Amino acid sequence: MKVELQAMCSECYQPVALVLTEQSKNIRCPVCGHEVPMIEKGSFTSLAKDQSKRKLFAAGAFLSFLALAGGFAWFITEFEKEQGSTVPGIALMVIAGLATLVLAWVGGSRRYVCEF
Ligand SMILES: [Zn+2]
Repeated sequence: MKVELQAMCSECYQPVALVLTEQSKNIRCPVCGHEVPMIEKGSFTSLAKDQSKRKLFAAGAFLSFLALAGGFAWFITEFEKEQGSTVPGIALMVIAGLATLVLAWVGGSRRYVCEF
């Protein structure tokens, strides 16, 4: 498990991207070397769980985006036929489009910013 954080160092005020693992003993600024003790295990675990869940949502958003493209391809194919049915293609585009929006929003909505 690992946790990725956008952090701000309280010594040099540099924004740094931190990657914490279970083995991390300290949180260390890569710019000035300022160190603080690692966050407690409980917080680390819940952060890691939350982040992996969000990665799943982001992956889901990608898949529903593919479905959206599929719906569009279907629509175009049927549209070019004389009596093709464009409705399933349109329906798929609408559903997949909404799913993409929701999943991408949930997957990308929370960014952790901490100061240490
Ligand atoms: Zn620093």
